Amino acid sequence: MDIHSAPSENIKVAVRCRPISRKEEESTCRIVVDIDTSSKTVTVFPSELSSDQPKSFSFDHVFPPTASQDEVYNAIASPIVQNVLDGYNGTIFAYGQTGTGKTFTMEGDKDVPHLKGIIPKSFAQIYKSISEAGDEQSFLVRCSYLEIYNENIIDLLSKDQGKFLELKENKDREVYVKDLSTPVVVDADDMDRVMRVGNKNRTVASTRMNSISSRSHAIFSIYVECSTDAGPTKESFLRMGKLNLVDLAGSERVSKTHVTGDRLKEATKINLSLSSLGNVISALVDGSSHIPYRNSKLTRLLQDSLGGNSKTVMVATVGPADYNLDETVNTLRYANRAK
Ligand code: ADP
Ligand code: MG
Repeated sequence: MDIHSAPSENIKVAVRCRPISRKEEESTCRIVVDIDTSSKTVTVFPSELSSDQPKSFSFDHVFPPTASQDEVYNAIASPIVQNVLDGYNGTIFAYGQTGTGKTFTMEGDKDVPHLKGIIPKSFAQIYKSISEAGDEQSFLVRCSYLEIYNENIIDLLSKDQGKFLELKENKDREVYVKDLSTPVVVDADDMDRVMRVGNKNRTVASTRMNSISSRSHAIFSIYVECSTDAGPTKESFLRMGKLNLVDLAGSERVSKTHVTGDRLKEATKINLSLSSLGNVISALVDGSSHIPYRNSKLTRLLQDSLGGNSKTVMVATVGPADYNLDETVNTLRYANRAK
């Protein structure tokens, strides 16, 4: 077997284009993104005034504005969740400019059944699968919810939101977050409640600190432990899978000429972690022997869930309108490199 084929099989890249918004429609902007599902390509059309040619990019999956939450889930998330139930790690990232549908894709509208996003749907799949498992298997499910802001880790499930947590390594050199809350959750509703608590903490922090939610990475992780009793021999064995659901900071370039001080520091750190993530994913796809996990908290934290037997999907979200063209092309280039 070609050693380069193994890692890239486990990393998939998808692009989703959101529908044009009412405001965009009213301001008569042009739609400049075309998605062709049969060839799995995304084409962007430069403005009529520019001499640039249309650019096409191809991906593992492409979702046009009409794609439903169900279609997106079934194509990209369901296989990863199944893999986690089988005892492997998996990660789903949403990457893209603020306002293009990262949170819509990951969380969706939790109160409208057909608009639920990947996170609540994965709860349902996990507990459905557990309820269908045989008596010889018993499951323990925990979860955690944290935010990385300015290279600081904040536990969204802790009462003490002002505290920054540390990344540590255990004696097996596995990376973990010291003192992170990991409550046991018994069913999908229970997990929904936990997610709402974390989201509320995130919103509170975000109003206090000037809308940090678009400038921080949110990671919801689900740990599924399964022990199987092998019957007469009384031997039991344990398997453990971890699912990371990541709503990344907005990828938009912050103009360095207009920001100073804290805002500049923050922009530099967002760029650092998003570019580190891009570098890790492209090194994995290329089958490189050195994977630069250590360059950011985000990639260190997810080290055991990127590469090896882990499955990863990156969903890059874009808007359809002309005024976003530059950011759309940046997002497609980033996603294309991860492929
Ligand atoms: P982001 O998290 O990337 O900043 P959001 O998920 O908040 O973006 O999306 C911005 C707006 O666009 C929201 O009002 C959201 O409901 C809407 N939206 C995004 N993607 C879609 C979609 N595929 N279908 C319908 N509405 C969408
Ligand atoms: Mg968002």
